[in-house]
Amino acid sequence: MSDSIKKYKILCVDDSKSIHAFLQECLVPVTETIEHAFDGQEAIEKLKLNLHAFDVIILDWEMPVKDGPTTFNELKLMGLKTPVFMLTSKNNPADILQMIEAGVAEYMMKPFTADIVIEKIKSILG
Ligand SMILES: [Mg+2]
Repeated sequence: MSDSIKKYKILCVDDSKSIHAFLQECLVPVTETIEHAFDGQEAIEKLKLNLHAFDVIILDWEMPVKDGPTTFNELKLMGLKTPVFMLTSKNNPADILQMIEAGVAEYMMKPFTADIVIEKIKSILG
């Protein structure tokens, strides 16, 4: 196994500025580029320009305008193949199961640490 660090293009979709700031800081070691969207509709507009521009999409559940599950379903209908990493404070097992069954690559609850986020992204992307 090579120890070279892979650098990924990541889209973070969350309505919290502090989550964006924290993710930006956490993801530095594995990030080539990081882009930000503050609700699902903004994410969809970005992805309409280039659907597969990112290696992974980090997606919040609860957001104004368009929430995470609605956004995820619309992106699937658009043909998105990029793994979606749902990172949310929703911790009800039924909610988690709903999104796993819908096809998210990973589901993790807030709060989180940088180490865990990086570990999960590496495991999603191999
Ligand atoms: Mg939120």
